[in-house]
Amino acid sequence: MENVRCNCGAMLLRADEIALRGTIEIKCRRCRTVNSIRPARPTPDRHERPRTRPE
Ligand SMILES: [Zn+2]
Repeated sequence: MENVRCNCGAMLLRADEIALRGTIEIKCRRCRTVNSIRPARPTPDRHERPRTRPE
């Protein structure tokens, strides 16, 4: 489990590394900043990158 904290230091949530598939937004209760949280690692087995080589 990983603690996700706001910039002000308040803990927003705890989540597993694989718990997030996409971006979530959570509003900090202390400073009222909306934090966008993205998964730490995008799934590496997707072939979304076009193979473009220089020359
Ligand atoms: Zn905050």
